[in-house]
Amino acid sequence: MSAKNRRVFLIQAAAAGSWLAAGSVMAQGAPLVSETDPQAMGLGYKADTTKVDAKKFPKHDKSQKCSNCQLYQGKPTDKQGACAIFPGKAVAADGWCSAWVKKAG
Ligand code: SF4
Repeated sequence: MSAKNRRVFLIQAAAAGSWLAAGSVMAQGAPLVSETDPQAMGLGYKADTTKVDAKKFPKHDKSQKCSNCQLYQGKPTDKQGACAIFPGKAVAADGWCSAWVKKAG
């Protein structure tokens, strides 16, 4: 496991612990995370999955987006929702970051 993958894993593990506590209700009025937020930049977050740098993230696929990520807490029809990675903020349903994990089911 590379240092970057380990860091992402640790972030996901820590975030998953607070996942239920955060709840999607808290993100209803939460501000959208900015692409220039240091944590967002570190994870390559883009509010539009089609704008992801393919050279930097060669495994990214345009079908991957927050709304089909395991860590997304919004409803399928929501334009934005909470994400366990960014507590207190919302992410765009069409967004993406390198911590994307396919939603189970
Ligand atoms: Fe959060 Fe997943 Fe979107 Fe990344 S891809 S910002 S982990 S919902």
